[in-house]
Amino acid sequence: MSILIEALKSLFKKPFTRMYPKEKLKPCKRFRGRINYYPERCIGCRMCERYCPVGAVKFKEKGKIDFDLGICVLCGMCQDVCPTKPKAINIRNDFEFSSSDKKKLVNLTKKQ
Ligand code: SF4
Ligand code: SF4
Repeated sequence: MSILIEALKSLFKKPFTRMYPKEKLKPCKRFRGRINYYPERCIGCRMCERYCPVGAVKFKEKGKIDFDLGICVLCGMCQDVCPTKPKAINIRNDFEFSSSDKKKLVNLTKKQ
């Protein structure tokens, strides 16, 4: 009986789901999404590559680093260990970068 009452009550409640992408949820301040890389700030220390737990950072040369968001776990380690001030890596709260092509997820990091 109580299940029936609950079911009837829920008919008059607003849905918990959102009509994404029309209705967007604003991520919290500390949410980690897209990685931004600022080559002009980079000193080429390779700390980001060394500390990335999944090998998503491929250092080529100072100012040229590939970030593979296809395997990145968004841990934020690369940003934390980057020693420059301001940091050459900045993780934004933008989460809309999905793609069906894995290659397109490499170097989605350009400053925008
Ligand atoms: S956020 Fe974490 S997993 Fe992603 S590139 Fe940086 S260190 Fe690697
Ligand atoms: S940790 Fe920062 S300064 Fe060092 S190579 Fe990576 S992006 Fe450049």
